[in-house]
Amino acid sequence: MNICIIGTGFVGVVAAAVYASLGHTVIGLDVDLAKIEKLRQGIVPFFEPQLKELLIEQQSLGKLSFTTEYKVAISNSEIVIIAVGTPSAPDGQADLKYVVASAESLAPFLKEKAIVIIKSTVPPGTLPKIEDVIRRKTQVKFFTASLPEFLKEGSAVHDTLNPDRIVIGATDPFVFATLEALHAPFEAHIVKVRPESAQMAKYAANAYLATRITFINQIADLCEKNGADIQDVIEAIGYDKRIGKHYWYPGFGYGGSCFPKDVKELAAYSRAINEEHNLLNKINELNEQRVAKLLDSYKDRIGGWQGKKVAVLGLSFKPNTDDMREAPSTRVIPYLLEHGAMVTGYDPKTVEVAPHFIPANEHLSFTEDLNAAVEGTDVIFSLIEWPEITTYDFSSARNKDKTQWFIDARNQFSPARVSEWGFEYIGIGR
Ligand code: NAD
Repeated sequence: MNICIIGTGFVGVVAAAVYASLGHTVIGLDVDLAKIEKLRQGIVPFFEPQLKELLIEQQSLGKLSFTTEYKVAISNSEIVIIAVGTPSAPDGQADLKYVVASAESLAPFLKEKAIVIIKSTVPPGTLPKIEDVIRRKTQVKFFTASLPEFLKEGSAVHDTLNPDRIVIGATDPFVFATLEALHAPFEAHIVKVRPESAQMAKYAANAYLATRITFINQIADLCEKNGADIQDVIEAIGYDKRIGKHYWYPGFGYGGSCFPKDVKELAAYSRAINEEHNLLNKINELNEQRVAKLLDSYKDRIGGWQGKKVAVLGLSFKPNTDDMREAPSTRVIPYLLEHGAMVTGYDPKTVEVAPHFIPANEHLSFTEDLNAAVEGTDVIFSLIEWPEITTYDFSSARNKDKTQWFIDARNQFSPARVSEWGFEYIGIGR
């Protein structure tokens, strides 16, 4: 099939490369010329395992190309997938301006019977609005569908090739049949539902995972007050099959480009439809307050942050990505600077992007050299569990002339091991 993906950001590039690898002819379209030129040269403007190799391979096979021209991209495409950004608008709801703009631009070139799919995360009720936008600019018969994206950054290519499920939101049998055939090679569960259900499923999945993280953080806080260890509690509750041992991450709260945004958008959407009294506002509030709450609570223990030399390790929002959108580091580092600390930020992949999120200054520097980052520090702050960090022997950073603290923000280290290295251990809920 001929497929056009509109928006070659994170989701769009992964989708384009993966559909091409299934044998389709895919064209990626973006309004950002610099991005398109990079992609044409096989340069992925962010770090994601396996993606660059797949992109180069599919371009060299002639299955994948990139353009900035709507006419070129749309005229020949049976399937048009909108994967542009949906940032939060000032009222907190998803801002659909990029989705609307792409619908307006694609409409004049739409092929008869093309299927326009929204992959961007959008609230229920979006499809009819986009259909209206397109109908104003074309006479051709076209179809629409919602195909929410569930990949995880850091394992996006793997997730897209091996999805837990594909959710197709549509009403027309032709659309279901075409999209089912398109995704058959994945051998995944295909959930065929109304568009509104597909859109709610995307928000519900992210809101649930964010709630799970916030919940275990609350339990961790209680453990700190009563001598329980959150890791023991997780093991104990995890044997209950209704609960499970997976996906418990007590820590500094959730981040990334999706959870914070999607929780806020779902909360705002709820307000807009008069369902204001709900859990989502509280989840968002607790998550936003979490970094300051924890860092305040360490102040007495370490004798204040003023003048402390702190190595913050792991700046991306999780391992295997260089994405720092709403990463815990973007709250932790400004807090530390504000409270008088001197910070070195270490990350294996974000050294170039980090200054765009947190401008370096005389009290803040970034490095890719872990040895240099931890040298002479008062506090080592293991924020994200990159393997480079969790397998490092921190005994080399020990200075016997002073007390040093080790903040294990994701409970990745054994407290006994950290004590053996000579540091005062501070974990989460232990
Ligand atoms: P992104 O910001 O990385 O990329 C969006 C791209 O769209 C940019 O390259 C931008 O130039 C382009 N664009 C904007 N307006 C355009 C237009 N009119 N025509 C053509 N291109 C245009 O966004 P992303 O992280 O890829 O997310 C895209 C959508 O997918 C969002 O709705 C997001 O919530 C959702 N999503 C993201 C993830 C993720 O892990 N990043 C996961 C699931 C769902």
